[in-house]
Amino acid sequence: MGLFIDIHCHLDHLHFNNDRDAVMERAKQAGIKAVLSNGINPETNRSTLELAKKYSLVKAALGIYPIHALQKDIDTGAYPLQPNVFDVDEEIQFIEKNRGAIAAVGECGLDGLDKEHLPEQKAVFDKMISLAKRVGKPLIVHSRRAEQEVLDMLGSSSIKKVLLHCFSGKKNAVKRGIDAGYCFSIPTNIVRAQNFQWMAEHVPLGQLFCETDAPYLSPFRETMDGRNEPAFVVESYKKIAGIKKMELVEVMNHVWMNWQKVFV
Ligand SMILES: [Zn+2]
Repeated sequence: MGLFIDIHCHLDHLHFNNDRDAVMERAKQAGIKAVLSNGINPETNRSTLELAKKYSLVKAALGIYPIHALQKDIDTGAYPLQPNVFDVDEEIQFIEKNRGAIAAVGECGLDGLDKEHLPEQKAVFDKMISLAKRVGKPLIVHSRRAEQEVLDMLGSSSIKKVLLHCFSGKKNAVKRGIDAGYCFSIPTNIVRAQNFQWMAEHVPLGQLFCETDAPYLSPFRETMDGRNEPAFVVESYKKIAGIKKMELVEVMNHVWMNWQKVFV
């Protein structure tokens, strides 16, 4: 019996619009018991809530992703959405109002690819950390090219329940996160990404989760159409089991216990 969890993906993404029911059916068949879909702005937060109502497997996380970085993805067509213009405080109120319907706050954090707006990003992230503490939910954090800054902000906030999604910091940054007691989610591209293989070896089992970040980071990039989906999260579990020299079922049970402890 499968007890797998995809702790981070974007199920509202346009790439799932034609076959979302089939994608969720395959997840069920693969033994996935929970899929945490992450909103990143007002538009996706609302569609994420709808998906959580529609599919029993889907749990909602609502967040505010670095605003200008997302706008860039919208402009290039990488993430097709309406223009990303909104009032941050109003959106935070919306998330707080829906606290009973969410499993976590996120995706939020800092994106070092958008250096020029880092002060604004930090102001929003600070508010999201406070929000997670207020509603008593775990925080799902994006930290691309800003890992040390993210750890600094989390460290000075005293927040405890933190999931560092797709964390790509240097080894000393990973160690800092481990020492702080944060959780890490290993994405499915671990099948080819050596930094995640190193993390799988060094992060204690009690702080590990697995994610697809679907539709991104597919483990089957070369052989299929390149789209990732929740059913594929099992590839992360398998790789971790191989690296830690454990049975797949053992890894699965440990991550399941982490889920019960941190998210439920
Ligand atoms: Zn994401």
